[in-house]
Amino acid sequence: MDDDQGRPLRFAVIGAGMAGILSAIKLREAGYDDFTVYEKADRVGGTWRENTYPGLSCDVPSHLYSYSFALSPDWSHRFSPGREIQAYLEDVTRRHDVEGAIRFGEEVVRGEFVDGRWRLETSTGHRDEVDVVIAATGVLHHPRVPDFEGLDEFEGAAFHSARWDHDVQLDGRRVGIVGTGSTAIQIVSALVDRVEHLTLFQRTAQWVFPQDNPAYPDDEREAFRSDPDRLAGLHSHLKELFGVFANAVIDADSPEIRMIEDACRANLEENVSDPELREKLRPDYRAACKRLIMSGDFYDRIQRPNAEVVVEGIDRIEPAGVRTADGRLHELDVLVLATGFQVDAFMRPMELVGRHGRTLSDAWAQRPSAYLSISIPDLPNLFMLNGPNGPVGNFSLIEVAELQFGYILQLVELLRDGECSEVSVTAEALEEYEAARTEAAKNTIWVSGCRSWYLDDRGVPATWPWPFDRFRKEMAAPDLAAYDRR
Ligand SMILES: Cc1cc2nc3c(=O)[nH]c(=O)nc-3n(C[C@H](O)[C@H](O)[C@H](O)COP(=O)(O)OP(=O)(O)OC[C@H]3O[C@@H](n4cnc5c(N)ncnc54)[C@H](O)[C@@H]3O)c2cc1C
Repeated sequence: MDDDQGRPLRFAVIGAGMAGILSAIKLREAGYDDFTVYEKADRVGGTWRENTYPGLSCDVPSHLYSYSFALSPDWSHRFSPGREIQAYLEDVTRRHDVEGAIRFGEEVVRGEFVDGRWRLETSTGHRDEVDVVIAATGVLHHPRVPDFEGLDEFEGAAFHSARWDHDVQLDGRRVGIVGTGSTAIQIVSALVDRVEHLTLFQRTAQWVFPQDNPAYPDDEREAFRSDPDRLAGLHSHLKELFGVFANAVIDADSPEIRMIEDACRANLEENVSDPELREKLRPDYRAACKRLIMSGDFYDRIQRPNAEVVVEGIDRIEPAGVRTADGRLHELDVLVLATGFQVDAFMRPMELVGRHGRTLSDAWAQRPSAYLSISIPDLPNLFMLNGPNGPVGNFSLIEVAELQFGYILQLVELLRDGECSEVSVTAEALEEYEAARTEAAKNTIWVSGCRSWYLDDRGVPATWPWPFDRFRKEMAAPDLAAYDRR
């Protein structure tokens, strides 16, 4: 960028998942060419690089889970497999020619704000000094591995679902799956017909919204290819449709949430024939209180003669398998921990030191928070994508990140135009925002009586509690009164 276009700015983007790739493309598009993307792994993709388990697909439609500027006519299914999403992200990276800006194999481990700039240090000892940091480090990123007694002594293969060991033979083996989130449900459907016996260790039953996953026939894909308006029309239509869902979950009394509940209940009643199994699979809380499971085949697959749902708690792991609280040993060859992620880690364990020696650890000593999930007091010129308490319900995080990035660019313009050289939210604005967010969360379905990863240590949903339209409006232009600008 030339001087007459404002102050030249150097950027570091941390992470080359969906949000980091977006940042690189959008920075360049806005005329900011001086940036480096740091990625600790050896490839782009984040979530979609790390999760390779059988049955993985997105659970929002692929035509919605796409960058608005890179719609693809080629999605194979309504909810396409994970490997297709990974290929899509790699393809977008290539086509926008941002791969050259990525330093792979470099984890940013430390950053300190000194004399108006961020001094960064990576795991290889490389140093960089930048004006702006964009943290695109992910939410569902650090696997949560339960500390079952005896796990190390298991004689079979045991691994977390996000660290799938593809060398392990599954066909004809006895496989146990711990957990009942979207991941576990997808794995059950994909594996049950391949294995000798499948045991699902269920702590909490889940409501399952019946959702088929049809393939797009060739002629339909061809029609998308030859008519970009048709593709764009589908994207907009899905955005609207998912807006309805987004609004339903924030009002526990809405007719839409009742409709979702009715559909889930009918799915269970009509599609699980064995009364005993049906009761095991019946949740004792309201649908969508936990992240809603979308599946058109789970109930069918879990009723296979070689499948079993175990509701007794896991007591310990033994060399031969899993011992449950009722004393029974479930003998296994493979144990899959579909036990989710540490959802409050975000960019940690990175160490960040902001103004007046204030650190990220100080700021998040109780729990992670950020104004509109983007800015933290006294960590100036550092912005997060998919940061704490942002919209995470069943909608596309790509749309969320695109809106957030548009907002961040406007804060960056203040720096470029010399209106200030440091910008971060004020502590008061963050406090006010958090109070309003906590209050609004009281009406949501997430607090209607279940345990879920949406809830923080106080039981407050760590997500956006207002209509999605309000999020769009907030992201349209920053309220500068909320910002400390120097
Ligand atoms: C199984 C699964 C299914 C999902 N399905 C959906 C879905 O259907 N719809 C949806 O909207 N969302 C879904 N999600 C959420 C998904 O995580 C987001 O949609 C999206 O991929 C997040 O992108 P991201 O770039 O923000 O984070 P990530 O994809 O997590 O990428 C973060 C990147 O940052 C890198 N990184 C982290 N820390 C550092 C560091 N210190 N230095 C350098 N690099 C670092 C990581 O290696 C990673 O590559 C799903 C998540 C999972 C786990």
